[in-house]
Amino acid sequence: MGLEELIAIDTQNPGADYRRIRRYLTAALEDRFAHVRVVAGNVLGTWGEPRMLFNAHMDTVRADGWKRNPLKAWNQGGRIFGLGACDTKGSIQAILEATKNGAQDLAVLFSTDEECGPKTGAARFFKTVVGTNLAKTLQGAVVMEPTENRVFTRHPGYVQAELTFKDSTGHSSSRRLSAAGVAIETLHRLQHQAGWNVNVSSIKADAAGANIRPARCQATVSIRSYRKPLDVIQKIKATVPSKTRLRIIQAEGPLDNRHPFVGQPAEVHFWTDAATLSTAGINAVVYGPGSIRQAHQPDEYVLKTSVEKAAAFLKRTAEMRP
Ligand SMILES: [Zn+2]
Repeated sequence: MGLEELIAIDTQNPGADYRRIRRYLTAALEDRFAHVRVVAGNVLGTWGEPRMLFNAHMDTVRADGWKRNPLKAWNQGGRIFGLGACDTKGSIQAILEATKNGAQDLAVLFSTDEECGPKTGAARFFKTVVGTNLAKTLQGAVVMEPTENRVFTRHPGYVQAELTFKDSTGHSSSRRLSAAGVAIETLHRLQHQAGWNVNVSSIKADAAGANIRPARCQATVSIRSYRKPLDVIQKIKATVPSKTRLRIIQAEGPLDNRHPFVGQPAEVHFWTDAATLSTAGINAVVYGPGSIRQAHQPDEYVLKTSVEKAAAFLKRTAEMRP
């Protein structure tokens, strides 16, 4: 099965080398009679005048804590284990299966840098194709992420920021809050903004000893909300003390697709490139084999039946005319 081959191609990010997987996917698409080219680092295959786009990212997170070789897939009772099995090489496999006899008026985009980096390959792709025929004919898209074969139409936006809190140093007996104390208090307040999901992924204060007030405390936070990224940034600025330094690492908008073709609105909680496509005026939904509960951890797996089900779904969707 091709999924094992896809898993064996190392695309761990940061630092992913896409040359091998690009060659593999270019050859596979050419076998399916697609016109293939590399656009902004991504592999794009098209048939006819594409109205529908299928997108899956080629990179995986870095393997951490695996007891077996994560690039050597193994099958256990219909579960295919391996790095990227569900996020999202199972999806790439589903796309290849759905198009194995060719397709009509369809585009397939295998994109880079979804797992890390401030700009995803899909975003770079759309910057490149703005104003072209392809951007005009595309109306619908399926962005593939592990959703256990369910279609999702909404998810929050994503803002990642680094906050550097500053205050005076001195003896720790002072009753005034240190930079670290201010950081904790402010992060707490940020966490209580209505409708925000705030994750503090790191916090570090550097005092020379337990008896010294740290003058500086740095925290990295990611915020998920349905507000526009600019509004989120404004709200952060309004919440933190004025001498705090704010560095925005990533700022992506939400997905809220209400086009009739997508059916009942359903919400997923992680950010996807569907938001990028929807900003570009394409009715994107999120769908894919495997579960997000298996993603980004050792012994990631996808059910073989889930990949097959996804391939059948894509085949049906390719025939839809949104
Ligand atoms: Zn992922």
